[in-house]
Amino acid sequence: MQKQLLVTFDYELFLGNRSGNIHDCMIEPTNRLMAIMAKHKIRSVFFVDTTYLLRLKKQSENSTQCAADFKTVATQLIDLVKQGHFVYPHVHPHWLDAIYDEKSNQWQLNDTTKYRIHNISDLEKAMVFNGSVKILEEILHPSFPDYKVNAYRAGGWCIQPFSDFKPYFLQNKIEYEFSVLGGIYQFTDAQYFDFSNAPQKTIYRFNDDVCIPEPDGPFTQYNISSIPLSNNKLMLNKLWLKLLYKLKGDHTFNKGEGQPSRILNGIKPVSDKGHDLSDTHWERISVELLTAVKMSAYKNFLDQNRYMHFISHPKMITNHNLVVFDNFLV
Ligand SMILES: [Zn+2]
Repeated sequence: MQKQLLVTFDYELFLGNRSGNIHDCMIEPTNRLMAIMAKHKIRSVFFVDTTYLLRLKKQSENSTQCAADFKTVATQLIDLVKQGHFVYPHVHPHWLDAIYDEKSNQWQLNDTTKYRIHNISDLEKAMVFNGSVKILEEILHPSFPDYKVNAYRAGGWCIQPFSDFKPYFLQNKIEYEFSVLGGIYQFTDAQYFDFSNAPQKTIYRFNDDVCIPEPDGPFTQYNISSIPLSNNKLMLNKLWLKLLYKLKGDHTFNKGEGQPSRILNGIKPVSDKGHDLSDTHWERISVELLTAVKMSAYKNFLDQNRYMHFISHPKMITNHNLVVFDNFLV
């Protein structure tokens, strides 16, 4: 059976009180991932937080540190494409309200009012979406004039309602969509999505709703994979992580801080078959969640399915994750 292993990464800083720096969150972990993928001859997809790049470019006019960071990130994006990987936009609109601190060369993104594209004005939507496509083209086209920026993943999976995005998908000729985490939902004052009724199909065409397949629709959805985990496995994993931390200091702490969010009570998902994102018994397939304890569950998933779609974040990946990912690919 032909297997399709789709390895994707959200390439970004932390999106809350403290962003962290590009070296710890993006450059170094990505270099290590590139080495592993080159070894196994795998081409992957990087969804780049282009809203960060837009702010970084603007700040570069007044800051030599930001100008240097922009150049470093742009160079890595060119490297990624040179090595056969794909680079596409990933939009976190609350960068519009981010505050830069020159002293620490970090950003503060505590204001999550604009976390979803749904909550910004049409003018801002056009600015962040069209600007995101354009900034990647500006970085990549001098080296790869024919490179097509034609795929997308929404920040925090917030791709609903799709009517917020459709005009910009059409305008920018975006054909491929990677935001649906099938079967999962979350309702907070920042992240808000409901894929509880997403089709079981892994790849399907759609038109107006990312969860409703339409065979003649203009867009293609690539559903992100997830797996069930038993109580035993979760308990064992917890112990294993504690042990790794004790013995090897394996962790991602102190790189930065994620966005604050408050659960919105009383909202029901459209299907009762769905799982809440915070329920660890049903977990997305991800390099940063892959441990030696979960290896067999990942291997079983790949044995039983033709398609396996990883969603990972370089900023979250530990040494242990890299070792296990490398073994998984063997
Ligand atoms: Zn993101």
